[in-house]
Formats: sequence, structure tokens, C-alpha cells
Amino acid sequence: MKGKIYVVGFGSGDRRVMTEQAVSAIENADVVIGYITYIDILKPLFPNQNYIPSSMRRETERCKIAAEEALKGQRVALVSSGDSGIYGMSGIMLEVADRMNADIEIEAVPGVTAASAAAALLGAPLMNDFAVISLSDLMTPIDLIYKRIELAALADFVICLYNPKSKLRTEHIGKAAELIMKSRPKSTPVGIVRNAGRCDCAVWTTTLEKLGDEPIDMLCTVIIGNSESYIKNGKMITPRGYLIK
Ligand code: SAH
Repeated sequence: MKGKIYVVGFGSGDRRVMTEQAVSAIENADVVIGYITYIDILKPLFPNQNYIPSSMRRETERCKIAAEEALKGQRVALVSSGDSGIYGMSGIMLEVADRMNADIEIEAVPGVTAASAAAALLGAPLMNDFAVISLSDLMTPIDLIYKRIELAALADFVICLYNPKSKLRTEHIGKAAELIMKSRPKSTPVGIVRNAGRCDCAVWTTTLEKLGDEPIDMLCTVIIGNSESYIKNGKMITPRGYLIK
């Protein structure tokens, strides 16, 4: 019997924002494979599953294990936070299966990505065109990241930053703010959400000028407004352009 891999985006971990499809893929899996932190989030919600946790930065190895399990005929849920196709496991899983020449069925199960979860908590900052940029330079050269930021700012996109700051990579967020200020006022509103959908969730706003000094870490998503974004009554709003009489 041929197994199958579901690459499951399970959202933030809040059971209420998991899709039915994600819940069903996890519940019906013979084995659930994922980064140990994500397994810790899922275990209390799905206590009867058979889990294979793996450590950070072992993505390729994790996908090979998933492929081997599927080749044995197992139904595998390879889990990823947020959406599995946005800086998630879908791409690497397809690439690894391709490289292994493995005849396995692979299905991506979408989830609520951090940008959507953060936007909902902040108000409505993504109502117009926006660019999502990761500040992680583990696999993308930092000069290319800065170029994308500068051009997105020039084109007046709302800019949503993932992986904004790690323990080793502390400079990028301040530098990103500087680049954006070349074409946007320093008073531009910025929304920050840490741990969306988790028990210690924090939501706050600041300005582009102060962004570099904010207590940001890898658990945060940062949304920088466009030239029309504003904050009113605690909500960050990017107008779509409707005429309101
Ligand atoms: N596949 C994930 C993104 C993985 S990249 C998704 O679609 O959401 C990891 C980055 O996502 C983090 O550094 C952070 O910027 C963001 N992120 C993930 N979960 C988050 C959460 N619960 N709250 C805020 N940001 C989050």
C-alpha cells in the first residue's frame, strides 16, 4: 500500500483557527512529524497521535523521515506552523521527494499564516497591496533582502516582516527601518504582534522611527503601514480607497 504525506499548516496552535482539513489530516495520520516546539503545541490537542519530533534546522532530514514513513505505507502529517506553503515545509518536502525519486502522494494543507493572524489582531493593516519579506538571511543573502525592502517601500507596499530578529541577527530590523524611511515618513505606523493565537500573545503599535528599539524577537510579526495607513482607537487601518459619505 502506498502512503501519503499531508504537509499541514496548523496556524498559530489555537485549535479554533485550525482548518477542518488540518485537524482531519492530523487526526487520521499514522505518524505526525515536526519541529519539537510544534509537536509540544499539538500534543495536548491531539494526545493519541504517534509523534516523531525533530530539532530546528533539520528540515531536510525531517522530510526524508516523512518520505521513508510514507514509502512504508504510512499516512504522514508533516506539520508546519501557520501556512505550510509560506516559509513552511511544503516546498522542501516536494524538493526532497523529487530528489529521492520517491513515488509518494504529497498534499499541502493550507493554514492561517502569521500575517493574517497578526493583521486581525491589529485591525485591518493589509487592506491594500502588501509585500511579505523574511529578514532571515540563513538562505537568502542579506543584500537581496535589503533590496526587496527598499523597493517594496518605494512602491508603497504595506510591508509585513517575518523572522524579524533572532539572538544572533539583531541588526536587520533597524537597518530595514532605515531603508524604508528613505521613502516613507518616520511617523509611519507599525504594528507588532508576538505569539498570535497563543496564551502569551502581545499586540502593540509604534512608528517606523522607533522600530529598531522595540523588544522584537523571532516570535513577532511586524507590519509596516503604507503612506496612507493610520491608527485610530487602537486599530491600525490601511484604507482600501472606499468613498465613505
Ligand atoms: N509558516 C509560517 C511562517 C514561518 S516563518 C506561517 O505561515 O505563519 C517564522 C516566522 O513567522 C516567525 O519568525 C514570525 O515572524 C512569524 N510567526 C509565526 N508564528 C507566529 C505567531 N504565532 N505570532 C506572530 N508571528 C508568528
